[in-house]
Amino acid sequence: MKLAFVTDRGAVALESLRSELTAIFARDQHEILDQPDEQVDLVLNLTGFDEPRANYMRPHASVFVATIVRTETGDAWSDSSELQKAIYRVLVKTMSNVVVHLVHGGRHGQRAYFVTPELGFRAVPADETLSRAIADYVTPLAGAHMVINNRLDEDLPRALWDGDERSRELAAFGRKLAEMKLLPNVFDITEILDQRDLRMMMKVFGIKQLSYGNLSARCDAHSFWMTGRGVQKADLRVIGRDILLVKGYDAATHTILLSVPEGVDATSRVSVDAIEHFKIYGALPEVGAIVHVHAWMDGIEATQQSWPCGTEQLADEVLELVLRAPDPARAVVGLKNHGLTITGHSLGEIFERIEGKLVQAVPALD
Ligand SMILES: [Zn+2]
Repeated sequence: MKLAFVTDRGAVALESLRSELTAIFARDQHEILDQPDEQVDLVLNLTGFDEPRANYMRPHASVFVATIVRTETGDAWSDSSELQKAIYRVLVKTMSNVVVHLVHGGRHGQRAYFVTPELGFRAVPADETLSRAIADYVTPLAGAHMVINNRLDEDLPRALWDGDERSRELAAFGRKLAEMKLLPNVFDITEILDQRDLRMMMKVFGIKQLSYGNLSARCDAHSFWMTGRGVQKADLRVIGRDILLVKGYDAATHTILLSVPEGVDATSRVSVDAIEHFKIYGALPEVGAIVHVHAWMDGIEATQQSWPCGTEQLADEVLELVLRAPDPARAVVGLKNHGLTITGHSLGEIFERIEGKLVQAVPALD
């Protein structure tokens, strides 16, 4: 793996951590570049908490960026929503896959919190084992492959321009998710980023806004309807924008293929988890619907690795767990430090099964 450190003046307190990390990555036989080049896999961005800087213009989503910040207060990620908002701001401003937040002292002692865009987190002791913990966390993730490219083909049959029974059911269950309070309030990224940063976010990740959770329903043997990226799930109306028909996947270019009506907004994108749903529908013809929520359920199997959303690796590990479930067509699988993926014959059947059993807090797993 090729990695590089980038930093700014706000990060003087992180110099010794940087030397420790350099030693560990060198020992692990990774190549440390003086600065990120075109082949870089991992960028470690050391910056200040109050004025977080990206220090690196990421050309595309497949570079893994971990930003490290440190605060002197004793507050930890889980203590206050103000702090969560501040860390989230660091995450978005630096366009990172993870923020490692070092808390110096306080009631939990020296701790480090790994916070992801899915707002999952995990806490580790910030002692002499910290640099090892950071290296072990980011190394496998830096090799993950994002499948976030979409190709929009204006070939949706006219009869489906207003959707069908299943897409309407999908819209109805989007409202139901909101009623069940399973759509957490996400921070509005337009409040955090200026126009230039927003354009950058669109270019790199294909998003204009963030939202959590997604729904899909099979249309026929080879296609399925799925919620769009960053759309308001409680108000799914327009086909080709809020709900899109996934008709295939081009593995050579890691591109999800969509069938849309003529004249749709060219910036429409399907949820980043489309690759996961695509693999599940392909492997299991009896699955008719899939729901992904940021919530948890007791007694379930979970993925071992907290892969970022939209990666081929997350899709493969989730599929593996689904296939191992007693009934793969009616499975509930945990995505570590993130949420659930639930398969079913239909959305109605899934919601009947999960109602009253979900807990909103996702446990922090090591
Ligand atoms: Zn998610």
